[in-house]
Amino acid sequence: MVNEGSPDDGDLIGDDGKIVVPDHVADAIQTLIRWAGDDPAREGLIDTPRRVARAWREYCAGYAEDPSHHLSRVFEEVGGYDEIVLLRDIPFQSHCEHHMAPIIGRAHIAYLPQDHVVGISKLARVLHAYARRLQVQERLTAEVADCIWNGLKPQGVAVVIEASHACMTARGVRTPGVSMVTSRMMGVFRDDERSRKEVLSLMGMQGRA
Ligand SMILES: [Zn+2]
Repeated sequence: MVNEGSPDDGDLIGDDGKIVVPDHVADAIQTLIRWAGDDPAREGLIDTPRRVARAWREYCAGYAEDPSHHLSRVFEEVGGYDEIVLLRDIPFQSHCEHHMAPIIGRAHIAYLPQDHVVGISKLARVLHAYARRLQVQERLTAEVADCIWNGLKPQGVAVVIEASHACMTARGVRTPGVSMVTSRMMGVFRDDERSRKEVLSLMGMQGRA
């Protein structure tokens, strides 16, 4: 059986300190270069298949992570704080599962704590763990929100993602500058109009999401 390789296998590291790319993976990228119309044997392309393979290991590093793990250390002492916690304008990169083309955007993640809070950088870690996979923006948004909802059991979660999709801006209908906005509101941010308005205005998204 051919070892197809997955992040769980643990990558072999070569003498040069880089991940060893199996031949069948490099061959697949060579085939794609030939199909695209170029000669994979020409000098500038010789090392490209292995570079591309390693780049994809990075783009998809999220498969080797359990995103909920980032929320496992919580702080119960919140000093009576019962207002919205918001991490705004988190830049991220993902890849669409339909074209494996880049999705580049920003996310705003908020929650209203119940009993405990989490280190603020953890919200970004949850985002990246899901973004570094093949995605659709709608699912990415839902997965981040659900993970925080289940992990922190807060009173509310709001996730808004704005992103542009290279499969739309660089090919197909070619519409540079267009971005897509998706949101998921849970708990009080879904049920209470005032709370939703408040979080969207803190995000700078009022009237947009
Ligand atoms: Zn796409």
